[in-house]
Amino acid sequence: MDSQRRMRSNVVSVGTHPGDDISPELDRLIKQRGRDLRVRKVDQQNAVKIVNHLIESLLEFLKNNEDQPFFREVSVLTSGSYYEMVKINKPNEFDIMLKLKVPRLEMSELEEYQGLFYNLKLLKGTREEIKHFLLEDERTVSATKIKAEMHRLVRKFISTHFKGQGWVICRKQLNSPAVTLEFNNKEKEDEIMSVDIVPTLEVPQGWPQAARAGPNINNWLGKKCRRQFVSKAVYFVPKRPKGRNLKDDAKESWRISFSHIEKEMMQYHGHNKTCCESFSNKCCRKRCLQLLKCLIEGLKQRYPKELEPLCSYHGKTAFLHVLSDRVQDSLWSPAQLSVSFMKLFGYFERRALDGSLPHFFIRQHNLFSPPAFPKRALAFLTNVLKEQRELGLPVLKVPSPSAALVPDTDALIHPNPVNGTDSIVAYECSFRYVYIYIGLVVVIVCVGIGCAFKKKIL
Ligand SMILES: [Zn+2]
Repeated sequence: MDSQRRMRSNVVSVGTHPGDDISPELDRLIKQRGRDLRVRKVDQQNAVKIVNHLIESLLEFLKNNEDQPFFREVSVLTSGSYYEMVKINKPNEFDIMLKLKVPRLEMSELEEYQGLFYNLKLLKGTREEIKHFLLEDERTVSATKIKAEMHRLVRKFISTHFKGQGWVICRKQLNSPAVTLEFNNKEKEDEIMSVDIVPTLEVPQGWPQAARAGPNINNWLGKKCRRQFVSKAVYFVPKRPKGRNLKDDAKESWRISFSHIEKEMMQYHGHNKTCCESFSNKCCRKRCLQLLKCLIEGLKQRYPKELEPLCSYHGKTAFLHVLSDRVQDSLWSPAQLSVSFMKLFGYFERRALDGSLPHFFIRQHNLFSPPAFPKRALAFLTNVLKEQRELGLPVLKVPSPSAALVPDTDALIHPNPVNGTDSIVAYECSFRYVYIYIGLVVVIVCVGIGCAFKKKIL
């Protein structure tokens, strides 16, 4: 608290309209954090190899499994932050969606959730393998049954194919659609990673009514792009709404997922198709999202209880809204990083203040509405964001315990004390510098001795 008060006395005004008035300190801080994020990608490569091996083996296992033919036809739907390269403080967290094919379905919206949660029913009775995952009415596809089977199959897979190799299955969580696996490498403690495996239904028909209008991207990516998106399949994951005393249909509900389209929008994010294709037309859009996610994760680490309902999807949603409004690529040039980020931050803060953050695809669904986002948590978030803005975003400021060891140059990573992975990376980096110094000294001494010997011999 004291340190916060101290900071308050050094308040750097950024004005009431963030983005219009950015102090040099804040500008430096944003750019510094942006640079830190760039370096981390390198550390992912080993984790990616291990996870790829795991998933390839799992697919092979499912394709050949004797006990559940419905899971034989799975394939991977690439999605999640790893593939978008915007995973922040935990670079070793992976989301893998496993696509399961289903016949045509009737999608009925759960009224109180404005188009986000659905019951899925077969149009007619079936003898296909999906019949093992229906409720008593022999039509409704059971989210709990599919989730439980996914869990059982993954458990069997690990115990038969990866036993004793460091993978552990986490306990089932009621509100999560995923089977979570964790990997602990005893020899290399920094190689801790987790993989969320999510069974996903691919529904071969048009989008449900609530999403029919499609995302608001006409000015940004164009009408043609919007039409292409809307013609794609729609996906559902076995996720129930938050809250107690759910009705029976809510317990068996599916949440609609647009992560395949979000991924595409992240990849081809420019107003001009050529954005980020080469060094000369780089933009800072992805970096802005990374910074916002960083801020959200930092706040959640500080206030885990108060900000429990907040998640990175809120940040991503705000980001997509800003992108669809601030369309010109020139506004997002790398030099505009601080201005662009503060525009995004300002938008996020205003949405929290208004208590309204529409889902990007299902606009009538407000992600800041209770019970998913209780009023008390929203009020807390609003205050915290205001405080962050007034204090010059201290949550992005991370004290560097290794600063004494390393020269203060921009290229170094500043560790995040609340995150183990980053700290390890940073220490490694700073020790690397110490080694370079020692190496240089040794070389100079050797050369010196060599010269002295030469002189003697001559
Ligand atoms: Zn770009």
